[in-house]
Amino acid sequence: SLRTSEQIIEQTQEYGAKNYHPLPVVISKAEGVWVEDPEGNRYMDMLSAYSAVNQGHRHPKIIEALKEQAERVTLTSRAFHNDQLGPWYEKVCKLTNKEMALPMNTGAEAVETAIKTARLWAYNVKGVPEDKAEIIACSENFHGRTMTAVSLSTDEEDKRAFGPTLPGIKIIPFGDTQALRDAITENTAGFIFEPIQGEAGINIPPEGFLSEAYDICKEHNVLYIADEIQAGLGRSGKMFACDWENVSPDILILGKALGGGVFPISCVVANKDVLGVFTPGSHGSTFGGNPLACAVSVASLEVIEEEQLAARSQKLGEYMKSELRKVENPKIKEVRGKGLFIGVELTEAARPYCEALKQKGLLCKETHETIIRFAPPLVIKQEDLDWAIDQIKDVLSV
Ligand code: PLP
Repeated sequence: SLRTSEQIIEQTQEYGAKNYHPLPVVISKAEGVWVEDPEGNRYMDMLSAYSAVNQGHRHPKIIEALKEQAERVTLTSRAFHNDQLGPWYEKVCKLTNKEMALPMNTGAEAVETAIKTARLWAYNVKGVPEDKAEIIACSENFHGRTMTAVSLSTDEEDKRAFGPTLPGIKIIPFGDTQALRDAITENTAGFIFEPIQGEAGINIPPEGFLSEAYDICKEHNVLYIADEIQAGLGRSGKMFACDWENVSPDILILGKALGGGVFPISCVVANKDVLGVFTPGSHGSTFGGNPLACAVSVASLEVIEEEQLAARSQKLGEYMKSELRKVENPKIKEVRGKGLFIGVELTEAARPYCEALKQKGLLCKETHETIIRFAPPLVIKQEDLDWAIDQIKDVLSV
């Protein structure tokens, strides 16, 4: 059997499609904010699986829910009811203050669902002529890797050689309300955006954008669709990033931490006037709403609430940001973020810094070449955060 990190990486390289470029580290164990390789080296996880592990690795309450449910029933399909879906619906609707939810598995599938919802709503409710519905998205967005998400993308690397892409999509610059106004037509179904762009490098829109865009959407009967897959569920220092401007989206897309990093689950939530457009047979997923995912998800949401992870993220995030801003290095262009969702933009490649941080015992991943994203699990202890900040200061200082 394989033992060393080197052998495991070799095997992975030999047989795996090359659609990722991971740091050369193998994780074989994890707990809380700490992960370990087969040789027993310990690292702090500063990425949290792109914010899927907000609750920390293997949170005991979530693992308990997983085990308990695994002993009872794991999959029924939606051909039958299961006893975990109802409680999950109620939990997610109460948390988001919406009337209906639709469960899927991955983030990209939830984005697909949101776009299908918006189109169906446009035809059935708004009265847009057949096949004319338009969706407005933002430059530099990241909504996943399926063809719909790729069609929304403005990144040539994401789209190249995957065409033809989906028609009916318009792009505006992220944060530009005038461009949003100009892009809306009578056929616009929805405006989809990330309230904070994660993959683009923790891009925060100008203050007022989220609420002004909401007003513009209301004015023109356009669905306001927030992709909170990465920024939501406590990450930005509020339960949802849209809470920073007190707006409640027409459609909210959740994923990642919805399953506590334990089991994949994603969803779309909205009121009945929107999600009510679906009828039996119009959409679905074999694994969507499975009892194992639902049980894990209820526990995952309870952990976020009980441990007040949003408030924790806000407090520790402010602290971390102010500490990182003390670092003097002309190569640091900007330190930005909300909560423990922090980007450090450099004037040069970020990858060597990530490699140096790995040597110091910190796992981070560069995004868009020049940006390092710091997003530890939100359960991180003050002393662990202080240790991390010391290592980062060492690597970033000149
Ligand atoms: N939307 C946003 C904002 C994301 O950050 C991601 C993943 O990084 C996705 C959608 C896609 O989620 P998944 O990788 O689970 O399909």
